[in-house]
Amino acid sequence: MKTGLFAILAFACGLAVAQPQVTVLERQSFAGSELGAPEGAAHRLELTVVMLQGGGWTRERAVLALLEASAILAQCGVAMDRVEFLALEVPPSHMDFSTPAANDLASAQPVARPAVYLVRDTRSRPAFDAEAIGRGNSRTRPEIADTVWITAAVRHSGIALAHELAHVLMDSGEHTQEESNLMRDETSPRNTSLSAAQCARLRDTGKANGLLK
Ligand SMILES: [Zn+2]
Repeated sequence: MKTGLFAILAFACGLAVAQPQVTVLERQSFAGSELGAPEGAAHRLELTVVMLQGGGWTRERAVLALLEASAILAQCGVAMDRVEFLALEVPPSHMDFSTPAANDLASAQPVARPAVYLVRDTRSRPAFDAEAIGRGNSRTRPEIADTVWITAAVRHSGIALAHELAHVLMDSGEHTQEESNLMRDETSPRNTSLSAAQCARLRDTGKANGLLK
């Protein structure tokens, strides 16, 4: 009977958690052909993009970033095949990235993964303009596994998006010193290439984790 009691307690606790009020303002699907995805690619990425309204992002900036990231990932034979775009209205308390706020948001409005959240700012310290949460760094926060969080202050949005998605697909926080490589710790328009080994890891791990089709 112990099990039953635990179940009841867990249910009562679940009810006590206040979820933020989330409203879907806009929902749109983009096909790969609209994102410049290569025809006949062997590996397909279906992405959800969640933009927080009033956080400094616009739909246009998000689409430009997607186009750029799509072109970068294409060098690994990965096609950004479909993007589900959502604009959400959330309370001011949930406009910025923090693990608790992100957990709340992901639970209040569940979306398919991998998912990219375009947020206002971050409360993490040190403050990164973009963060990737794979499997390896989500054991204490499984609600936000396979997500990327990018603040409006980020420079080179498309390159940052490709860089963070590569972290998630490879399930690795590693950086490289290799010249002009996307996974250098500093994003720059000069750093967009991925090595054959990085591409292989991205495809293999992405597929094993169900993030690539
Ligand atoms: Zn990085």
